[in-house]
Amino acid sequence: MTSADKEERVREDERRRMVKRLQLSRVCYPGEDVSEAMMRVKRHLFVPPSVMEQAYGDYPLPIGEGQTISAPHMVAMMCGYLELKKGEKVLEIGAGSGYHAAVIAELIGETGHVYSVERIQWLVDFSRENLKRAGYKHVTVMQGDGTLGLPEHAPYDKISVTCAAPAIPPPLLEQLKVGGKMVIPIGRYLQELYLVKKKEKGIEQEKKCDVAFVPLVGQYGFR
Ligand code: SAH
Repeated sequence: MTSADKEERVREDERRRMVKRLQLSRVCYPGEDVSEAMMRVKRHLFVPPSVMEQAYGDYPLPIGEGQTISAPHMVAMMCGYLELKKGEKVLEIGAGSGYHAAVIAELIGETGHVYSVERIQWLVDFSRENLKRAGYKHVTVMQGDGTLGLPEHAPYDKISVTCAAPAIPPPLLEQLKVGGKMVIPIGRYLQELYLVKKKEKGIEQEKKCDVAFVPLVGQYGFR
């Protein structure tokens, strides 16, 4: 066995332990589909080399530019609330490392597509590179202000916002299908994760839990 094979074995074992811990945790209880998706995504390919050894810990990690890759339990929870299905079209706001987009990509399969908008060009390049290296072809990362959504590919079945907004940006609600779902953290310092369902008339929103995300910065975000 080559040293690269050995390294892969170690990472696989760490990943299995991470998923096991999530399955035992009282906060998130990922379903079978989310657990399998997280088992398939090599999280260590999405973090900077300086924190590679911590890739499978259940906490956020720095990815540069003052931004973070969310903790695995948060990714599991948000994917679970969205009830992602094969073939869906999903919009993510805040590509960061590309990890969360990769987990979504696993859940929607190759007949689906993830569009992710990232504000910081360096992170656009970083996430594209990571997604390419990990082999995800059905994820497209675009540079822009995600508070405006991505009208050219709308409407979306699901929207996942991975930074905290002052309120739901109206363009995101417009670009969500009727019957679609969005997860979004709301608040500046004390934030809560909301699950929003778009109905024929209006929306239904449910507060899920307290969270800590970096701010959504943009026209309908924080300035
Ligand atoms: N989903 C990421 C974590 C992202 S952290 C992962 O799996 O690694 C939040 C990201 O949102 C940061 O990269 C930040 O630059 C980005 N962001 C903040 N405001 C934004 C905006 N208006 N549009 C797009 N991205 C934004």
